[in-house]
Amino acid sequence: MSQFIHPSWANFEREHVWHPYASMKNPAPVYPVTSASGVMLEFEDGRQMIDGMASWWCAIHGYNVPELNEAVETQLKAMAHVMFGGLTHKPAADLAEALLKIAPNDMKHVFFSDSGSVSVEVGIKMAIQYWQAQGKTDKQKLLTIRHGYHGDTFGTMGVCDPVSGMHHLFTGMLTEHFFADAPSAETDAAWDDSQIDSFRSQLEAHHHDIAAVILEPIVQNAGGMRFYAPEFLRQVRRLCDAYDLLLIFDEIATGFGRTGKMFACEHAAIQPDIMCVGKALTGGYMTLAATLCSSKVCDGIHADGAGVLMHGPTFMANPLACAVALASIELLLKSPWQERAVNIEQQLEKELMSCRDRAGVADVRVKGAIGVIEMKDAVDVAAVQKQLIAQGVWLRPFGKLIYTMPPYIISNHELKKVTAAMCDVVSTL
Ligand SMILES: *Cc1c(COP(=O)(O)O)cnc(C)c1O
Repeated sequence: MSQFIHPSWANFEREHVWHPYASMKNPAPVYPVTSASGVMLEFEDGRQMIDGMASWWCAIHGYNVPELNEAVETQLKAMAHVMFGGLTHKPAADLAEALLKIAPNDMKHVFFSDSGSVSVEVGIKMAIQYWQAQGKTDKQKLLTIRHGYHGDTFGTMGVCDPVSGMHHLFTGMLTEHFFADAPSAETDAAWDDSQIDSFRSQLEAHHHDIAAVILEPIVQNAGGMRFYAPEFLRQVRRLCDAYDLLLIFDEIATGFGRTGKMFACEHAAIQPDIMCVGKALTGGYMTLAATLCSSKVCDGIHADGAGVLMHGPTFMANPLACAVALASIELLLKSPWQERAVNIEQQLEKELMSCRDRAGVADVRVKGAIGVIEMKDAVDVAAVQKQLIAQGVWLRPFGKLIYTMPPYIISNHELKKVTAAMCDVVSTL
């Protein structure tokens, strides 16, 4: 940290403000940022960093985007916020229409909330209320696969990976759900049917107690940046139909083009019953998430005649967030996003694969605009970040993973700097 001259506010902040997954007593370095534009973050000391993280995968169009700025400014002058209980507004209606237009066809209804974790909570509630309304009150559990990540709230922690997640800290507070083995994430592994065995046997044994299956389709993100075969999802869909279970897709990380399809479930050409979106929904401008569901789910929730969906966040469907989300979707659809994803994928393949044979590297994998180097051992995040920053690149590795999920607008030249910095740092580990 000594290379940074800290403004006095940052010193105060270090003593009083928590950061994500951080110690207040032994704080990891945090770098003051003053502005951001395009793919660049500007640090307080004037240094420019290429943001290879898109601010935790949200800022797909980069920063200070004229179209998005304008959407916020225009909405701001009309109204920043009103309660959604008993009131409604056009930004919410327009965004819902846009979302349902790009989402899988079966999705017909939208519940807005303020963060990804909450949208997953709402998805879980939808599934449980669906069965309650049909009198199947035993169906209160979820089935998922290992290495998943669905959020940090109590309901969602219960379906995060039991090892890399936080189960050990909160045992007793967490619902015990059912876990199947995750499918293979090896880059070149061919599909074989044994990959579904564990999932099938969990279903056979426990389907009477299961309300829904919840998965991140195609890419497991914060649980390990693992990519798996579309065939796994097709078989999951078939088994859910056979056992009459609901299927929830958590597309919070994968939605809005990140894997090269608008939603990752399109790789398998199947649809969920409930779908969660967040992160890139507003292009990284505001906090907003949504839970989408099919008519089947919606009708089911109301099957007993009395049903209301029991959730209602204070900031539900915040107009500023809805307005910027709509502008972000319009901008995405106007842009050559598929071509950009293919270009990013090809460049990542070419440039990251070159460090596959380095001593400490366990695996290198690429899917759409996601590039991952998995090391054999956990990396020292602070030390790795320091090296990357010296090369003008911002990434936030975790565990054994050094990865990039850049804004889609990143140029070849900028992406080259990111991959070169990644390969360089790997050669020093
Ligand atoms: C980030 C993420 C969440 C949680 O979203 P928050 O907005 O951080 O609450 C849930 N699921 C997946 C797949 C995510 O990547």
